[in-house]
Amino acid sequence: MEIAILSEKTASQIAAGEVVERPVSVIKELIENSLDAGCTQITIRILGSGQRLIEVSDDGEGIPKGELPLAVARHATSKLRDADELSWIQTLGFRGEALASIASVSHFSLLSRTSDSITGSLLEVDGSQILGVKSIASPPGTTVRVEDLFFNTPARLKFLKQERTEKQAIENLVIRYAAAYPNVKFQMYLDEKLQVNTEGRGDRESVMRVLFDLQTARQLLSVNTEEEGYRIEGYTSPISLTRSNRKEITFFVNGRWVVDTTLNTALVQAYHTYLMVGRYPLAALFLEIPPDELDVNVHPAKAEVRFRFPDKVFSLVQRSVRRSLLSQSTVPHFTGKSWQPFMPSPYEIKNVDSQRNEHHFEINETQTSPSVQPGIANPVQSPFSFGGLPLLRLVGQIGAAYLVAEGPDGLYLIDQHAAHERVLFERFRDRHHDGISSQVLLEPVIFEVPPGKIDQFAGQLETLQHLGFEIEPFGSGSYRIRSLPAIVSGVDPQEAVRVVIEDFEEDETPLQGELESKLIARICKRAAVKAGKTLSRPEQEKLLQDLEGCESPRTCPHGRPTMIHLSVDLLERQFGRRGSR
Ligand code: ADP
Ligand code: MG
Repeated sequence: MEIAILSEKTASQIAAGEVVERPVSVIKELIENSLDAGCTQITIRILGSGQRLIEVSDDGEGIPKGELPLAVARHATSKLRDADELSWIQTLGFRGEALASIASVSHFSLLSRTSDSITGSLLEVDGSQILGVKSIASPPGTTVRVEDLFFNTPARLKFLKQERTEKQAIENLVIRYAAAYPNVKFQMYLDEKLQVNTEGRGDRESVMRVLFDLQTARQLLSVNTEEEGYRIEGYTSPISLTRSNRKEITFFVNGRWVVDTTLNTALVQAYHTYLMVGRYPLAALFLEIPPDELDVNVHPAKAEVRFRFPDKVFSLVQRSVRRSLLSQSTVPHFTGKSWQPFMPSPYEIKNVDSQRNEHHFEINETQTSPSVQPGIANPVQSPFSFGGLPLLRLVGQIGAAYLVAEGPDGLYLIDQHAAHERVLFERFRDRHHDGISSQVLLEPVIFEVPPGKIDQFAGQLETLQHLGFEIEPFGSGSYRIRSLPAIVSGVDPQEAVRVVIEDFEEDETPLQGELESKLIARICKRAAVKAGKTLSRPEQEKLLQDLEGCESPRTCPHGRPTMIHLSVDLLERQFGRRGSR
């Protein structure tokens, strides 16, 4: 074939593929247009999972009658005039492509009225062909109707996802925008059923209910930080609330829903060592950053962005979330009914110089007496830092598995294995930062890597070296272990290396930065004292003391609790010393 310029119609249908890949992408563009028009409410109606009908109505500024045909012309926009303005873009749209693309692959109509005109105007398009503009009564605002999407592009029609998948995607999209714009009232009717309905009253907490069920929403921790022109707010889950995948993590940046690895990694890192492997937090976080530090023009559907200072963004997210966790997190607490999140009691230890074994604490009530009800978590802010433990007095060991200790606020049962894992983990991690100490084996040990694992193992050698393992290839699939990190010197060398090639649990694809800690956690698990081992009194004392010295003594590196706390209050109640209120 000879080279020829495509007709306008063909070109726009091809271009449409980039912007409107499927019904949900049409809805996204229309919602963005309504938001750009400064609306206070958006009503969405969907039939046949968007393929039959998508209708989006708003009460925004509207389009003047004379400009209606331009709205569906390609590269026609009211939002910017020249490319320089892109670096300061404040609107969600800027390419002037969406309506043109949508109109070229559907039966399309645009009804709009500006506040200063007495009547509305209706523009109808039939796959690129403008059918005409007529006056018609309508309230101020804009309604876009998209019918029979992809009727003239059979190839695209064939590739549409199953109705159920598409409905799910639509709902996911709408609830996210509803949560990100609490000032706008969102209503969505899916097959005539009201599926999403927000108040538009501006409070973020109540819109979280569209993203998470009530039970979940109640447990979320708020995040709110502002520094150097950057702002992050929203909600994140406490360590007790997790999912097996990253699907319930949502980020908006400057009003755009984005899927971004920097942001995801920063969030997951904030939970480091608090979550079990393969578990992920839930979060909805909304960032505002100076527009000139964000490139929004990198993706056809504007779903990705590029940060000018990714490190700054990373650190902001990680620190803010971590701070929320530290200040608001909870510890398992036995309430007599079920396991409930527990906030440590409002006591403060004044005199920590006293001999720990003599157990005389000066306790100071810092807040009004907590009104703890049986079975209900006590919402008092922790006077101890999240990690810090009160000084504990060892009582003894039970079942060759648990330590029993007493603190100013009751009884503690400590899982010796989990506690030792935590101690080793922090020691390993800290030593690792100021130079690892390695112990050379008297006799090198040969280690066979199973055939299926060779690549994975080879990929981790460098990380292992960092951690104090000296391992070298020794012919096909064999390796020679020359030294081990001092901390695992008591462990069988083959055993210590074997943990490295265990399968990571499903959905646990450690990011490069996480890999090291994951490996450390695994190694510590092997090295830690097992349940079933009787400890001497000095060993018990030592473990308790080491645990008290930890930064995060209340969870093992995999996120499981190291201890259970039975408060004085609970004990008194259980023994009937205090009437139940
Ligand atoms: P963009 O949003 O990139 O400018 P679109 O094709 O989505 O491009 O829209 C073209 C133009 O139509 C917009 O610039 C805007 O002026 C106008 N427009 C589209 N939707 C609306 C709406 N809901 N309310 C007011 N104006 C709208
Ligand atoms: Mg647009």
